[in-house]
Amino acid sequence: MAKRICIDAGHGGSDPGAKNGTYKEKNAALGIAFELGLVLYRGGYEVYFTRTNDTAVSLADRCTISNLAGADLFVSVHLNSSTSASAAGIETYVYRNASATARNVADNVQKKLIEATGSKNRGVKESGFYVLKNTKSPAILVETGFISNTTECKKLFTTDYQRTLAKAIYGGIRQVVK
Ligand SMILES: [Zn+2]
Repeated sequence: MAKRICIDAGHGGSDPGAKNGTYKEKNAALGIAFELGLVLYRGGYEVYFTRTNDTAVSLADRCTISNLAGADLFVSVHLNSSTSASAAGIETYVYRNASATARNVADNVQKKLIEATGSKNRGVKESGFYVLKNTKSPAILVETGFISNTTECKKLFTTDYQRTLAKAIYGGIRQVVK
């Protein structure tokens, strides 16, 4: 039976997430989420989204969508931000008490992302993020780059780079969830 992946594009609607000028995190997050959905679908996965347009979805609803779908994996997509303009790189989060599967997916996704982009490797980290805590399936949250970093920001809003990120995340997922 096909494995189910719930893709969670961070923020949306009245919540833009982090901003850099006219660039808003919510828009790149959705772009990456769509590209990820496409490669997962082509790879034979059943794909669910917590949002497919520019609307606000509560954190609780994001978890409910994934849990009701019976997802085998929850993947949240975000852009990072820092007060330091030079902060750069990619990091992947798991919950503090994450399962071995979640950690395995996170390790593989992080590795593939660094290989594919040559970005600075900020590693796999633990957090208490609501969506990581309240989803029943293994869950990861990917910070795909810094919107506050001019160079990374420009790339993050191109379809080509979003596709590169999506393929890398997919590559990491398929090594573990199959
Ligand atoms: Zn975010």
